[in-house]
Amino acid sequence: MMMRRVAPPASATEEKEATAAAAGVPGWLGALLSTRFFLACGAHPGSPRNECNMFCIDCRASAAAAFCYYCRSHRHSSHRVIQIRRSSYHDVVRVTEVEDVLDIGGVQTYVINSARVLFLNERPQPRGAGAAAGKAAASPYNCEICGRALLDPFRFCSLGCKLVDTKRQYGHEAAANNVAAGAGGNEADAGGSKQPRPQGRRRKGTPHRAPFGS
Ligand SMILES: [Zn+2]
Ligand SMILES: [Zn+2]
Ligand SMILES: [Zn+2]
Repeated sequence: MMMRRVAPPASATEEKEATAAAAGVPGWLGALLSTRFFLACGAHPGSPRNECNMFCIDCRASAAAAFCYYCRSHRHSSHRVIQIRRSSYHDVVRVTEVEDVLDIGGVQTYVINSARVLFLNERPQPRGAGAAAGKAAASPYNCEICGRALLDPFRFCSLGCKLVDTKRQYGHEAAANNVAAGAGGNEADAGGSKQPRPQGRRRKGTPHRAPFGS
């Protein structure tokens, strides 16, 4: 606890992270996806390997989320650090570096420089006619969030699009839980007149009648 921070923004962040954690998403994922990488490190100007292409899972988004090779050896040597790489100016991570700390199921992976990678965020898509647009239309697989054409039957083009989907799902679940928790508050149910949870109640509560009662 070396740094003192003003309380309000921190608590707002914590609340957001708690929501994400409840959805099965690690709290640092949002920070990873919103961090700008590959800027020169302010602490190491003029050094040859000073581009900020590292992200520390253990330090999360405290202060500088992106840092350079030298920062890593000074401050994060015993931490879990993800290295961000670039493909055509887009940020990617290697599958081997994130698969143990993140559920990457459903996200399209690509082999780039003989390593399997996935994209952090949705990429802007070419608009209008042209080879790329034609290719996209011909693909049988598309990202469920942004519509980008995928090579293989995956659901999302990137971790970012998967996160959007996870948050949506969590929103539905939270709403459902609220309905279940509210005493008799069943208005949100599609079949409004139905009794709440008929199956569970019946199985537990109804007394068993002897089949051959006379
Ligand atoms: Zn640095
Ligand atoms: Zn660290
Ligand atoms: Zn997408």
